[in-house]
Amino acid sequence: MAHKVALIRGDGTGPELVAAVEKIFNTANLNIDWIDVEAGLACVEAGKPIVPDETIAKIKEVGIGLKGPMTTPIGKGSVSPNVTLRKKLDLYACVRPAKSLPGVETPFKGLDLVIFRENTEDLYAQIEYMVTPTVAQSLKIISEFGSERICRAAFEYARKNGRKQVVCVHKANIMKVADGLFLRTFKKVAAEYPEIEAWDNIVDNQCMQLVTRWNSYDVLVTENLYGDIVSDLVAGMMGGLGVAPGANYGTKCAVFEAVHGSAPKYAGLNKVNPTALLLSATMMLEHLGELDAKKNIEGALEATLSEGTKTYDLGGSATTSGFADAVCAHLKG
Ligand code: NAD
Repeated sequence: MAHKVALIRGDGTGPELVAAVEKIFNTANLNIDWIDVEAGLACVEAGKPIVPDETIAKIKEVGIGLKGPMTTPIGKGSVSPNVTLRKKLDLYACVRPAKSLPGVETPFKGLDLVIFRENTEDLYAQIEYMVTPTVAQSLKIISEFGSERICRAAFEYARKNGRKQVVCVHKANIMKVADGLFLRTFKKVAAEYPEIEAWDNIVDNQCMQLVTRWNSYDVLVTENLYGDIVSDLVAGMMGGLGVAPGANYGTKCAVFEAVHGSAPKYAGLNKVNPTALLLSATMMLEHLGELDAKKNIEGALEATLSEGTKTYDLGGSATTSGFADAVCAHLKG
């Protein structure tokens, strides 16, 4: 039976990246029933909400979504479609693996860590206003419930995947109340996993340590804003935003998406790297239990990169569609 997957094509470069992944999945003979759903700038332009209720309902119904990146209007106006989607579907765990890829040269050899970012709270609660005409205030919301479930997700992942260590990333030295609650909750959850080493780092120190001692880290768990920033840092260490995958898990649904945004300046140029979205899609295959297909596609991707077929961001000249064709040519079966 076909797997039903709700598909958001996204804004900017989103549609061309989604087309590349679709082509690779079709060539790999995956039995996926893609159900197109709308969200993003096109909805706003058509006078609809940035994420229409029907889109939320369809993703809830099928339980799985694949999403091209969406553009967030800056400043006044619409809220972020990405944040809206994560909140409405309660996709509380944003999981971002950062692993060195063959053929992608970086100074960070043997990088292999996973970031668990809390996805629904923190400054992303989007509660902000002008206190006076010249002073703005944004509220940082951290709850014990939200902290506990993301920390538990990180420890469960570590246990299931044979990871040895979970590190909590915070700024509790300054934000003693909010980050203090996150850290206390982390320590409480950690006590239930005595076989896994647990400690914590202040976020600025963590960033420095990631670039000097990246092999000392395994699983990191953190709040929403720090997770957003630290995952772009490790995306750069992997080789850039073009190669960094991600997934958002809730209790009822999961939505898979690259770490990067819609890169609008490259829209329609057939230029950007589909690797990040493809690796997000293979995370989806793992979620669907399609492990052989995941291995086949990741093997073909690695062979493509290793032979030197690369898009501009990795120093090559392959187009988005050309890169996808090269991956297809390496698929087995
Ligand atoms: P971005 O991630 O879209 O792009 C930053 C730069 O990274 C690009 O200019 C490009 O040089 C590079 N890049 C990104 N994706 C690439 C790819 N696949 N291949 C090669 N290079 C790639 O970040 P931005 O320019 O700050 O944001 C653009 C829009 O995307 C904004 O509206 C932002 O809000 C939104 N955004 C969406 C998501 C999401 O959908 N999850 C995430 C981040 C940003």
